[in-house]
Amino acid sequence: MVAGRNVPKSNQRLKTANLGFPRMGRQRELKFALEGYWTGKHTEKELLETASALRREHWKLQRAAGIEFIPSNDFSLYDQVLDALVLVGATPERFGGGAVTLERYFAMARNSREQTAMEMTKWFDTNYHYLVPEWSAGISFQIDTTKLLGEISEARALGIETRPTLIGPLTLLLLGKGVEGFDPLMLLPKLTAAYKQILERLAAEGVTWVQIDEPMLVTDLEARTREAYRHVYSELKPVPMKLMLTTYFDSVGDNLQIAVELGTAGLHIDLVRAPEQLKATLAALKPEQILSMGVVEGRNIWLTDFSVVMPMLDEAVNRLGGDRVLVAPSCSLLHVPHDLRSEAQLSPNIKSWLRFAEEKLAEIVALANRDETAHQANAAVVADREAAETTTNPQVRAAIATLEARDFQRKSPYPKRASVQREELGLPLLPTTTIGSFPQTAEVRKHRAAVKQGHETPEQYDAFLRDTIAKCIREQERIGLDVLVHGEFERNDMVEYFAEFLDGFAFTENGWVQSYGSRCVKPPVIYGDVSRPAPMTLKWTGYARSLTSRPLKGMLTGPITVLQWSFVRNDIPRKETAWQIALALRDEVKDLEGAGIRVIQVDEPALREGLPLRRADWPAYLDWAIKAFKLATSGVGDETQIHTHMCYCEFEDILPSIAALDADVISMESARSRMELLSAFRSHKYPNEIGPGVYDIHSPRVPSAAEIGDLLRLALKVLKPEQLWVNPDCGLKTRGWPETVAALENMCKAASELRAQLSA
Ligand code: GLN
Ligand code: ZN
Repeated sequence: MVAGRNVPKSNQRLKTANLGFPRMGRQRELKFALEGYWTGKHTEKELLETASALRREHWKLQRAAGIEFIPSNDFSLYDQVLDALVLVGATPERFGGGAVTLERYFAMARNSREQTAMEMTKWFDTNYHYLVPEWSAGISFQIDTTKLLGEISEARALGIETRPTLIGPLTLLLLGKGVEGFDPLMLLPKLTAAYKQILERLAAEGVTWVQIDEPMLVTDLEARTREAYRHVYSELKPVPMKLMLTTYFDSVGDNLQIAVELGTAGLHIDLVRAPEQLKATLAALKPEQILSMGVVEGRNIWLTDFSVVMPMLDEAVNRLGGDRVLVAPSCSLLHVPHDLRSEAQLSPNIKSWLRFAEEKLAEIVALANRDETAHQANAAVVADREAAETTTNPQVRAAIATLEARDFQRKSPYPKRASVQREELGLPLLPTTTIGSFPQTAEVRKHRAAVKQGHETPEQYDAFLRDTIAKCIREQERIGLDVLVHGEFERNDMVEYFAEFLDGFAFTENGWVQSYGSRCVKPPVIYGDVSRPAPMTLKWTGYARSLTSRPLKGMLTGPITVLQWSFVRNDIPRKETAWQIALALRDEVKDLEGAGIRVIQVDEPALREGLPLRRADWPAYLDWAIKAFKLATSGVGDETQIHTHMCYCEFEDILPSIAALDADVISMESARSRMELLSAFRSHKYPNEIGPGVYDIHSPRVPSAAEIGDLLRLALKVLKPEQLWVNPDCGLKTRGWPETVAALENMCKAASELRAQLSA
């Protein structure tokens, strides 16, 4: 028996739904098919056959699992937002007109020598990247339902009637950017007409239900956007089609009234992220409206605690009746790996606590069936996880519990530290440096793979790394950089590398999640308290330091970035885990300092993406996130200079928080936005030192010294010379050596010319 639950009036079986399935395939077949096609190894036909086989397999396994509402059109060859643009006929004009061929589709998605692709950005607060719609007045909206209808009939051939998914019109519009100040809402009448046509086509095909994703409903909306919602959905109403208005990633909150009043046949809400919204939603639903309950986490990998979900289902059933309740994942399963079957290396204990996409389908069905045996089995695993000693480290808990205000504060304020550091480091005005990584050449990757597979001994690998680091140091000295780095050649990834040294992390073999296009990431799993048994970076950083008399910068990944790019345990608050990681890093920072490293950079590129979707929740997040960074970095003496680095733009709205990190020096991506970032510093006086990136490392183009000089002079309009550092936008790992050397030479030349002018 599951303790403490009220037995519902009827034990009626509930209906089940899925909102989207991972598309890569068990063995990432789609990735390899795409990459094979791009390099010319596979034909278009072969690619499309692989894609079709994957879709069919995924539909069949959803049916076999017992899912009633199975999605179609959730598949994509690259990105579902791009597919939605093709569907409504709103692909950017610069890629040409007419039917979208596969060639044009990929031209929009991927940079080529001839053309820059559409911009990419993160899908809400996930690590999935979508292609950003470009809205302008000229868009014609010629709908193209080939893919949408194709998938429906492909599934029908298997005897499966799907519920197609569409990105809702307002979400699609709001995800995009107006070209040259164009107001996307101006397109509303044409876009609405396009959606109406699409729904009519679906109705004509005999489709009865459509999943229409409007996650924008969980964000802060302006009054005119709410008005737009009312308008669009009232226009769609006459179409004989049941719409499941689908929200996820947060609470519908103050948009609940509008969401309900849109009058769709159903509403899906995320009850994992925002269980508190159940009551209000039950009270607000109109008679007949169906509630789809997102009770199985669609974006993390832990098993569901049935004893938490069952009372929610009971409450809904008691209020609405079983016919009006659907059991579903919180969001599309796109954000979790495919299945657990092939995980042979995971400890059986940890593995028993995990659920990937296929296992999540089984949970949904077990919950809907209210099957006592499954519930007892679930309760046993939940209890096992709660009781497990491996997830709790008393020392770590005690360290967190006894933290004091001074643990989050550098010893002296910045001005005092700055003068000590100037003395200690002997740096010139406008010091030059890099962000950390140097080219990860094929040779570097080859050696890493060789040692992993046992084709090379660890001694051979070490010798290779020593040699590579030594060359890198000599090259930086020759170029004339002021603060050197070791080059990060030993690192596969900026999170996994650290996770492998830390306790509390586990690693999957096949836990791949799509990041964008064919690109997948395999996030480490934080299952227990995090601690650092031994130093992580001392060996290579210390070695690099021994090779030069110039200041050498140690490189670490910050607590929030480690948190964001991992699957985080859900049994303690995220803040707690972030602080545990911070404590581990604090020890590392101190060890580096003890080894004579006077400059230490703690990268936090993911600080901004951790922001909650609602502004009202920002302060709480920023408070603990900033404290995590300060906890990691404030154990050092005044003479040790702490750097941080951030990228992926759009930091304007959190500049005060960035200043609150109190890093001595921050380097930021900014070359592409022509230093727009700096205009923000006009209103927020940035107190410490800053290196706005002076060249874009995403392109092989070598900027001239004159060009870099111009950017630096621009920066000096808002920054004092003593504040300004000179560095590229981000790490150089994706670049080749020749262009890296040329660009850094120009960068150093620009800095020394300007330096001469300033001191003249
Ligand atoms: N230190 C890292 C590097 O140079 C930073 C990477 C990042 O910001 N994403 O590669
Ligand atoms: Zn970066």
